[in-house]
Amino acid sequence: MTKKKLASIAVRVVPEPAQRRVRYSCEKCPGYCCTYEGIEITQRDIARLAKHFGLEHARGEQRFTKPDAKGKARLLRHKRDRIFGSACLFFDQKKRRCTVYESRPGVCRKYPEGTRCGYYDFLAFEREQQGDEKYIALT
Ligand code: SF4
Ligand code: SF4
Repeated sequence: MTKKKLASIAVRVVPEPAQRRVRYSCEKCPGYCCTYEGIEITQRDIARLAKHFGLEHARGEQRFTKPDAKGKARLLRHKRDRIFGSACLFFDQKKRRCTVYESRPGVCRKYPEGTRCGYYDFLAFEREQQGDEKYIALT
């Protein structure tokens, strides 16, 4: 194919900011993702969290994590949550925010991976149905 032919192909280019514009707001969400039971974290995550609190690695692992059902992975411990019954140990009940944001595990940094959050779509739908922008839908 010649350069001339290539130049004639119409390509719809989506501007960068539009591609990255997210369709959810953690500010308006009660933090569904932090209530997920099996938040698996790595040894590197444990090291970062232990450092955050000035603890030895083993102590941090014991305090912040528990083994999964097969005993092969480490999951973030939970504590009671007034809305959902249970949430991550590091979740602020009142502000509905992470208390270790700068040191949070990799899996928390990656979630949600795209421009949408399934939980937020569900929340937005329920709020619209109820006509209440502060309504908290339970999963
Ligand atoms: S569930 Fe989605 S919108 Fe809510 S805090 Fe988590 S990532 Fe943000
Ligand atoms: S570490 Fe922070 S972001 Fe990750 S689940 Fe716990 S409260 Fe949520």
